[in-house]
Amino acid sequence: MENFICVQCGTQFSESAEPPSGCPICEDERQFVRHTGQEWTTLKHLTSDRHNPLEEEAPRLLGIGTEPEFAIGQRALLLQSPGGNLLWDCISLLDDKTIDQVNTRGGIRAIAISHPHYYSTMVEWAECFDAEIFLHSADREWVMRKSSRIQFWEGATLSLWDGLTLINCGGHFDGGTVLHWPAGGDGKGALLTGDIIQVVQDRRHVSFMRSYPNLIPLGPAAIHHIIETTEAFAFEQIYGAWWNANVLADAKTAVAQSAERYLRAIGV
Ligand SMILES: [Zn+2]
Ligand SMILES: [Zn+2]
Repeated sequence: MENFICVQCGTQFSESAEPPSGCPICEDERQFVRHTGQEWTTLKHLTSDRHNPLEEEAPRLLGIGTEPEFAIGQRALLLQSPGGNLLWDCISLLDDKTIDQVNTRGGIRAIAISHPHYYSTMVEWAECFDAEIFLHSADREWVMRKSSRIQFWEGATLSLWDGLTLINCGGHFDGGTVLHWPAGGDGKGALLTGDIIQVVQDRRHVSFMRSYPNLIPLGPAAIHHIIETTEAFAFEQIYGAWWNANVLADAKTAVAQSAERYLRAIGV
């Protein structure tokens, strides 16, 4: 029996003797099945030829990525907070060196994930660090490896500890979530957004899409909803889904201006 991992999206599945017949996440219109067909790997195989570089993206915010790049290529963020560390988003590779490095920084109290493309091997991480996982219930159908460690939350926000708040923005996925970190951004606040609010190449703007690889935009209602749900929160910075994909100053204005130009572009 094996917990197979989809090579294209990095999602780990419940235990099975044979690889699953397909990956629902990649077959969805927001992702894609690789041109050469569906492929599977295992965590053991990943640890044989890859490693996880760690780098501080900001004080108390440790980036954890994988080299050579795997699947969608995001990096996770270990947010170190007095009441316990939160792993924001997740990656597929978990190896001994990463476990040691994370434990040196106080381990993981809980894992929260922006949307199903980053569910990856969240259950492996949760079991290794004895952590719970917070996922928005609207994306429940996309969980491919069930676990009693997963807590599905509902509604617009969920308060954690030290003022940390999960915010359901929707958009890319109905359960699309961002994290507000009030102590981030030198005390002016930061949002950790995955690609629910996507930091774009100039790193002074963001964008919002139903599908990034297939270039499916969102409609005006979804854009307004993202702005409304984040309105009550102060944030100077945004930490996106990839290394250095961060807006480091005046991020709330960047979101507002980016939403305005997006609405103009789609003719609203
Ligand atoms: Zn997949
Ligand atoms: Zn995504």
